Order: sequence, then C-alpha cells, then structure tokens
Amino acid sequence: MDTYQQCIIPSCGRTHDVSEVLTGCICGNLLDVKYRSRPDKGLKEVFYERRSSRGNIFDESGVWGFRELINFVPGIDIEDYDSYSRVLVTYDGDEGKTKPFHLTKVAQYIGIKPENFWLQFEGNNPTGSFKDNGMATAFTHAKMLGVKRVACASTGNTGASMAAYAANELFMEGVVFVGEGKIAVGKLAQILAYGAKILEIKGDFDDAMARIKEAANKRNIYLVNSLNPFRLEGQKTIMYRVLDYFDWEVPDWIVFPGGNLGNTAAFGKAFTELKEWGWIKKVPRIAVVNAAGADTLYTLYNDWKLKWNMGNVDDEAIEEYYSYLDEKDVKAKTKATAIQILKPVNLKKALRTLELLDGVVEEVSDHEILDAMAVVGKNGFGCEPASSASVAGIKKLVEKGIVEEDETTVGILTGHILKDPSSIIEYHSNLTNRFANPPRKVENDLRKILAAIETD
Ligand SMILES: *Cc1c(COP(=O)(O)O)cnc(C)c1O
Repeated sequence: MDTYQQCIIPSCGRTHDVSEVLTGCICGNLLDVKYRSRPDKGLKEVFYERRSSRGNIFDESGVWGFRELINFVPGIDIEDYDSYSRVLVTYDGDEGKTKPFHLTKVAQYIGIKPENFWLQFEGNNPTGSFKDNGMATAFTHAKMLGVKRVACASTGNTGASMAAYAANELFMEGVVFVGEGKIAVGKLAQILAYGAKILEIKGDFDDAMARIKEAANKRNIYLVNSLNPFRLEGQKTIMYRVLDYFDWEVPDWIVFPGGNLGNTAAFGKAFTELKEWGWIKKVPRIAVVNAAGADTLYTLYNDWKLKWNMGNVDDEAIEEYYSYLDEKDVKAKTKATAIQILKPVNLKKALRTLELLDGVVEEVSDHEILDAMAVVGKNGFGCEPASSASVAGIKKLVEKGIVEEDETTVGILTGHILKDPSSIIEYHSNLTNRFANPPRKVENDLRKILAAIETD
C-alpha cells in the first residue's frame, strides 16, 4: 500500500514521506497519514476470522487484526508473517481486545433503551487505557526508523502505555514529562515500574506538552503524543472494532471524552476513510465530552463558533483565546485528570471531525462525572473519572433531546478503574455523594457486627 503524510489544510496540502519524523507540516498545521489504494471490502470476512484465530499474535491483536487498513510501513508484505512480524509492534497481541457490551444500570441511569446502548471498555487494554491502540502503531513507525528514544508529555496514561511498549522493545528508552502532582497514583506507579524516566515539570500538562515539543526540536527524540499521526492510525481501530461487532452497520452515535482530542481526530478519520472506500454508507454522529474545568473545545466550538470550514480555520480566534487563557492565568481544573488539558494539540483535526460527522460538543461538571463513574462501578465494571465523562455526556444529551432514546449509541470508556483509585475512595467515603458506599466502622463485637450487616 502506498502511503504518505499530508498537511490537513487543503489549501496547503503539502505531502511528506512516511519515513519523515514530523510534529507537523512546515506551515505549522497537523499531518495525516494517507493511503493511495482503496482496500477491498472482502477484508471484512478476513477480520472476522482473525478475531477467533489462535497462535498468530498479529491476528489476535485488536489493532493489527485490521492491518490492511493501517498499513503505512513501506516494503512489507502484509500477508506474510515473516515479513510483517519484523516491523509491526504488538504487546503480545493483547492491545485492542475490546468490543461493545450492554450495561443495563448505566442505560437506566441515562434514560435510554438498554438494548440500544453499548459501552466499549478500552480500560481492558494491557496497560489499562485506550492509549495502547495508538502505541502499537506509533512504536511501529519508530521501529521502522530505528528510533532509540521515545518521549511524551502525559496526564498519565500515555506515559504508562509508552513506558510499557518501550520496555517491551528492549533497546528503546522512554522519557515522560508530567505536570508535578497532576497524575493519578495508578498511572504514576506504572511509569515507575516499567522503568521509564519521569520528569515532573513544575507546571501542568499544557506546560509539559509545550516543553516537550521544544525539547524534541533540540534533541533527537521521537514523540508519541497524539500529534503523531501514526499513533492515531492505531486509534482508528477502536472504531473498526465497534463496526466489526455490528457487522459494519453504523450506529447513530459515538460518544467519548475529549482531552488532547486524539480520539476525536482518529475516529473521524476512520469513518471518513471507510465512507470514501465505499465500505459504509453513512457516518455516525459523534459527541465529544469536555470536563467543565477543561472545556476549550466546548467553548471554541459552541460559543466562539470556531469551525473547520473546509480547512480555513480561524487561527486568530484560537490565538486570541489562548492569549486570554495565558493573561488570566486560567488553568485546567478537573478531577478527571486524563482530560485536564486546555490547549489540545489535535484541535484542528477535531474541528474537521465535528464537521464531517455532524458532531456536537458537550461539557459536564466533576459532580456529574463522578456520579456517572459510580454507576459504571455499580455494574461491576468501573472506570476512571475521565472515562465516565462519556456516560455523563450521553445523559445530558438525552435530557436535551439531542440523543434520542431509541437511537443506537456507543460510548467509549477510556481507562481502567484501578488507574485512579483515590478518586473512587474519596467519592464513596463522602456521604453527601448520591451513590456513596462508604466503609462502615464497627467495633470488634459480634452483636454490633450482626446489627451492622442488617443496617442500610
Ligand atoms: C488520554 C485519555 C483521554 C483523552 O483522550 P484524547 O484522545 O486525548 O482526547 C480520555 N480518557 C482517558 C482515560 C485517557 O487516558
């Protein structure tokens, strides 16, 4: 398959070779990975069979099972194991083994028909978040180029995922920039355990992101943040798995949290390409959910009416908004730390997705996020706070009549319950919370213990 990188702005449209490591086009805008050929629809059957295959870790991988649609490595034979297994990176076939499922109590809480509502739990990835989907492809590009050092700015999950993949690739060193004190305990523990170097910057994620871009320009560092277009190729498979589950029928709505907006970018690209290739007849609508304390996309899209506008984005409006944030010293603030981001790197790609998929952007308070998280937990699954922004967002959209009760809706749960256990314990220990389930302290006395069992 013949591949290249291209600027997302049509009036520029510059192309670059796949072997170039770029954080953007020379005009300053984001890049896409582009494929010249049009994949054959017969592959739908192939993907289906791979899902039940044993022994070939690339067939088993929820990312590489779809490898013909994300085949950016020049000169490999995608049907020959010996050829592709030398370059493609997988965590022993374990990334992306997810599919949509029903959660009845969550559907009832939202006020939507349970049979029309699914959640796809990306927390079931090897390092506990959807980031592994993108790390498999970003590391493949890095390996293809012989990279020795990878780096990212992170609110935690990108760092954890990168650290694990770097450790697996033996000769790759990982460096993670985090905002000091801004990362949940499970994620910090993972990064330390997997052996990456962690730099705690005195500042927040947006500071860490700005600094790492500068550092990457000065040193030979390969960035795996979602401005890396090859990482987003892997995240497209999150939507391929939704479609595979529905026999390539397209649901009405896809709902997910928005932080750095990598998923917004990747999902939009996935559906747009499939439509261009004639694989699907329509695209779904999407809803991106911001936390109220980190709501740049919500504000710019809904209040400032910032639009993709066929690639003619109003750059001055973005600059004006960002200078306003700087002048007023506005900082992102939410308990959903994975989406505590005010200057999302994929803003323009997100605007493109919103236009092509007739999207909406919603925002939810921490209170709404944490109640929703508790309800997901009550189903026996659970997730971290940023993930339940999906659920809180759908609930709000149903209340507003934007998502209708009988529309088919798939929400994405982005991260695992054990990523941020402190926020869960804090929620359940506070009796003023709607679904609080606090530990009960009882004296070491059988009668009192028996009484406590019977008390609500
Ligand atoms: C990274 C992350 C997000 C944000 O995703 P973007 O693609 O950056 O918008 C949301 N939830 C969790 C758990 C994450 O790790």
